[in-house]
Amino acid sequence: MNIPKIIQAQKSYFAAHKTKDISKRKQLLKNLLSEITKREKDIVTALDADFKKSEYESVMTETSIVISELKRTIKNINAWAKPQSVMPAFLNFPSSSKIYKEPYGVVLVISPWNYPYQLAFAPLIGAIAAGNTVVVKPSELTPNTSKIIKEIIEAIFEKSHVSVIEGGVEISTELLAQRWDYIFFTGSVTVGKVVAKAAAQFLTPVTLELGGKNPCIIDETANIKLAAKRIVWGKLINGGQTCIAPDYLLIHSSVKDQFVACYQKEVTKAYGNNPENSKDYPRIVNQRNFDRLAIMLENEKILIGGKTNREDNYISPTLIDEPSLDSEVMKGEIFGPISPVISYDTEDDIDTVISNYEKPLALYVFTGKRNFAKKMIANYSFGGGTINDTTVHFANHNLPFGGVGESGIGGYHGKHTFDIFCHKKGVTKRYNWLDIPVRYAPYNGKLKILKIFMKYLS
Ligand code: NAD
Repeated sequence: MNIPKIIQAQKSYFAAHKTKDISKRKQLLKNLLSEITKREKDIVTALDADFKKSEYESVMTETSIVISELKRTIKNINAWAKPQSVMPAFLNFPSSSKIYKEPYGVVLVISPWNYPYQLAFAPLIGAIAAGNTVVVKPSELTPNTSKIIKEIIEAIFEKSHVSVIEGGVEISTELLAQRWDYIFFTGSVTVGKVVAKAAAQFLTPVTLELGGKNPCIIDETANIKLAAKRIVWGKLINGGQTCIAPDYLLIHSSVKDQFVACYQKEVTKAYGNNPENSKDYPRIVNQRNFDRLAIMLENEKILIGGKTNREDNYISPTLIDEPSLDSEVMKGEIFGPISPVISYDTEDDIDTVISNYEKPLALYVFTGKRNFAKKMIANYSFGGGTINDTTVHFANHNLPFGGVGESGIGGYHGKHTFDIFCHKKGVTKRYNWLDIPVRYAPYNGKLKILKIFMKYLS
């Protein structure tokens, strides 16, 4: 595969303004919607083959999200792409001003394996809608899904408009060595830094959608039964392999035992006595990740679960009791169905744990006290979060989804996705019927007038 040749073809396509016509972009998105709808069953089968993801979860967290992003984009593309008039500056009187949405050009999208379909298509839809050409590099760890992504794209787009390049680190490295107009990366913090470094050599703008250690705080006034139910759902969906899954649980010591009992009940309700036999419980994506997680269980007190089966990459829903902050499970992002339980008595205890880590992608707080929730939201910097539930802020396309600090740069979804893929070009148009002379030299005697202008008109 000749990567520079593909990029060159896309550069020429873009330079020939072939992506600029909005009705053409809209038509292609409509074609994409029809192809995606037609291939839904194939996607579900591919996800099952890749990591035993159930049909229900595949529809809920992958295909339906892509379909609704597409529908929303098709419906709104004209309004989003339209130059936006803004108030002119009085000092420029008479004038008008507009913000033009200019596509960047040739965009690289690198996606991860954990929601391999949705996380390739969601940025791709925005990038196409905004008028860019795109190269997508899906994850090598979910080859069945990557194959379908490639087939769908090739059925709709010319390669010089949108291309899918499959491959692992080597291909990714080669792609990153090229000059792009924008890079959208979803994946780990470690690789995010590699991407940022590669982008820096050409000052290429980036969106980095990364991970982190997401705290989940449960205070003594929370509805414990409902909290357990919602945490079990948000933690165990996709087998715990979700960037915004609650990572560790900070529970007020007075409700810890009650919470643990409720958690066990909810796990049994959702996945039966042995989740290994449940068709709804996904597997860890590969043995490297299985081994990384299995080590976290060693030498820890297990409250719930702790069962593993290496042959099937199975790890049961697990709660670990009070691990130390330097234990394996508390070192970095867990990204699996294991939850450390850490009890607290004071807000200082909460602070000691959360402040130990980089800014997370998400934070959750379960409480009956409005002020406590407000305080937790205000005290900590994090990408986004939910009060009294987990992960559901993701579902609101009006909210920008993304991290801060080590958990990422930039936010997308809905209109936010369209916006990140275009440069906002501010243009002022001056009119010729009046030309106030005060700004021109010679300046003798004009300073007083300038000061009056600045005082009243700026
Ligand atoms: P990863 O960083 O290992 O891989 C992501 C992509 O980068 C893949 O396409 C991979 O081929 C490529 N890649 C891997 N190593 C590379 C290298 N050295 N140089 C260049 N490219 C490289 O991540 P993953 O294991 O696929 O996904 C899990 C991580 O992604 C977790 O940390 C999770 O939190 C994060 N994530 C974040 C979001 C989000 O929206 N913020 C969503 C999903 C996953």
